[in-house]
Amino acid sequence: MASLSDAKDLLAKLVGFDTTSAKSNLDLITFVQDYLHRNGIASTLVPSADDRKASLYATIGDGEGGIGLSGHSDCVPVEGQTWTSDPFTLTERDGKLYGRGTCDMKGFIACVLASVPLFKARKLKEPIHIIISYDEEVGCAGVRPLLALLGENLPRPRVIIVGEPTSMQVIDGHKRIDVYLTTVTGKEAHSSLPAIGVNAISVAAKLVDEIDRVAAEIATTENDPHFEPPYSTVSVGMIEGGTAPNIVPKTCEIRWQIRGLPSADADAVPGKLAAFAEKSLLPQMRKVAPEASVEIESQTSVPAFSAAPQSDAVALAMALTGANRTSGVSYATEAGLFEKAGCPAVVCGPGDIAQAHAADEFVSIAQLEACLKFLGDLTEHLRA
Ligand SMILES: [Zn+2]
Repeated sequence: MASLSDAKDLLAKLVGFDTTSAKSNLDLITFVQDYLHRNGIASTLVPSADDRKASLYATIGDGEGGIGLSGHSDCVPVEGQTWTSDPFTLTERDGKLYGRGTCDMKGFIACVLASVPLFKARKLKEPIHIIISYDEEVGCAGVRPLLALLGENLPRPRVIIVGEPTSMQVIDGHKRIDVYLTTVTGKEAHSSLPAIGVNAISVAAKLVDEIDRVAAEIATTENDPHFEPPYSTVSVGMIEGGTAPNIVPKTCEIRWQIRGLPSADADAVPGKLAAFAEKSLLPQMRKVAPEASVEIESQTSVPAFSAAPQSDAVALAMALTGANRTSGVSYATEAGLFEKAGCPAVVCGPGDIAQAHAADEFVSIAQLEACLKFLGDLTEHLRA
């Protein structure tokens, strides 16, 4: 297996690039491209529409199919978090490596890059593909243009390993994410005459209440013990409305989301909310303001992931980790998109999801070592 010190050095470099999703990831991608080039490997970049970001695809070895090792380069913001040390300087304390993205998921990328000389040194039965995306943290947007090229300009891997932090457990399913914006349009009025207005915030409050009611109903009707919690969850995340205390507000926006089980009907919840608005809210609102409305708009959708029963990807990850069981998780990854694009996927990577997105994010050295061993064993597994 590759050396831990190489993986640590690479992780220090990767953490040094502030690749918060809102920013460019091109410095990181250029670094990776140069590193691969020094190892004699060419890479293809798939730029974003505005050219500020890019995904990277590189292949080691020859032949059809192959194993794709997939990670996202972006990370979540550090704003509002209290960190013990600089989030963009890798810092070691007590067997843990601290820094933004160490766990989610630059630790995995560092292990993959550190293993490149090893991949190169062996004659492989099938190739290894390195796939690095952007904008995963904002609806898995960045990997989608790359997926469209698989089987066309880019080789389609036989199996994809998504190295999100699972503590090296084998994950064969995850929930979907659907983000909605609900906009209430009422009618403005002087607050001394509320009866001639339609208060958009008051209507929104009733919608929030209905979202919570539907969420509670789902919690008692769905039960899939493969996931924790074992049902789809629905929650309101943001609300914004009104202009002044003495004005009946005309508009109010609610942003909410569903984390749905793979088996759940994704359209059921917005359908119920629309029916509630149509029956219980709009008739009253339109008596005062015929133009009043409640719009429910889908903003982002990340598909659920559910590996096929005889998935090659799951079998490979189980063989390499020695695991005898698989689990599902409630956070979403790019695995569902890969699976939809015809690449059997599995999620397995170093670090604990509990540290992802948190202040003082870290990956333990033991987890990096486990990942390096996994990649070393993969190399042996693929040896011609
Ligand atoms: Zn992630």
